[in-house]
Amino acid sequence: MAKIQAIRGTRDILPEEVGYWQHIETVASTILSNALYQEIRTPIFEETSLFERGIGEATDVVGKEMYTFMDRGDRSLTLRPEGTAGVVRSFIQHNLAASGGVQKLWYKGPMFRYERPQAGRQRQFHQIGLELLGSRDPRADVEVIALATDILSTLGLKNLSLSLNSVGNGEDRQRYRDALVSYLTPYKDQLDADSQDRLNRNPLRILDSKDQKTQEICQNAPSILEYLGEDSQKHFEQVQQLLNDLGVSYQLNPSLVRGLDYYTHTAFEIQSADLGAQATVCGGGRYDGLISQLGGSETPSIGWAIGMERLVLLLQKLQTTPVLVPDFYIVSRGEKAEAQGFVLAQKLRNAGLKVELDLSGSAFGKQFKRADRSGAIACIILGDAEAENQTVQLKWMATQEQVSLLQAELLSQIDDLKQQLTRHKK
Ligand code: ATP
Ligand code: MG
Repeated sequence: MAKIQAIRGTRDILPEEVGYWQHIETVASTILSNALYQEIRTPIFEETSLFERGIGEATDVVGKEMYTFMDRGDRSLTLRPEGTAGVVRSFIQHNLAASGGVQKLWYKGPMFRYERPQAGRQRQFHQIGLELLGSRDPRADVEVIALATDILSTLGLKNLSLSLNSVGNGEDRQRYRDALVSYLTPYKDQLDADSQDRLNRNPLRILDSKDQKTQEICQNAPSILEYLGEDSQKHFEQVQQLLNDLGVSYQLNPSLVRGLDYYTHTAFEIQSADLGAQATVCGGGRYDGLISQLGGSETPSIGWAIGMERLVLLLQKLQTTPVLVPDFYIVSRGEKAEAQGFVLAQKLRNAGLKVELDLSGSAFGKQFKRADRSGAIACIILGDAEAENQTVQLKWMATQEQVSLLQAELLSQIDDLKQQLTRHKK
């Protein structure tokens, strides 16, 4: 029979890799909790119209990349291609605005886009994202940007660059849009097909084109920064000042755009120089118009999303392998010894220690080999003699030093044991 394979564009995250994922999630949730962001978990599928209205029909994501299907009740549903729309739907539905002040939320989980699979680009991929809802203060913009850079630098990532832009408010963008269209129209025939199509529908997205000729033409296009009104300019200057105050470096990139009407002011991306073509690890921006667009009351907000797969690729390159290593590996043989070793394992685990219990029942030699391979800091050995005397042999793997002690002693000296483990860690 033909073996069933994982769907193209999806991957299993195997045990050898999952340590990276858990490490990233722990670092992110710690940093986000310190800033009092709370996790929110929304469904993986939603009504298709949520994404059409929440991301925009003129985008690639909605136009070409969505996994949309009819369910058995003839409803059009879509596997979420990103997290913001669902969070905003939930925010409106549960009237989270009523609890007053700003809402600071984060999420993690799988997203789905029908794209051409390649390194760092999949059809099921994963994001960690956050949304700060209910503040138009430039400090909010910089807080969320700094949370992203904190997470990335705590993970030990280097060679990152932050690109920053402002797309202003609706009026600014309308004036800019007109200027851009008049600049591009004479070149229309030389633009790539997608960009020609966007010239009337969504011209700002043309700046984002990956086509070389289109990029060349765009190089001399007018800059949105010259079209910002006074308020937008002031907001953007404050954002830059606060980034300077925090010592976060950035480059201005006037062609970094979000093409839809409800995106406003700050847009940013963090790229890695170590990733090749799929270089963007984090993308975000302000969306002051989105919540009212989706039927809520006007709620200025800002958020970002980090692509997990690309972070994992970077961490693998750094080889900071956060593998799961036991503190103790228990080797036992003989009926009594095995029963005592089993109880010991449970008690040590309950005391917060990482304990591997060899269940093979094979000869001591084989069990020792596995203990070595596991990277355990120490080995706890029980044979017939130890079982008889209620003792164990405790062997520190790095020094090979071995002591005999009572099982009761071992369990009553957990704090001391933990200190010894720290000393023996390589
Ligand atoms: P790209 O230009 O790489 O397609 P995007 O603008 O579509 O990115 P966003 O919607 O801003 O991406 O998503 C935020 C982050 O999620 C990206 O910076 C990237 O790290 C990650 N991401 C997006 N699409 C994919 C995908 N298909 N596979 C893996 N990661 C992805
Ligand atoms: Mg994309």
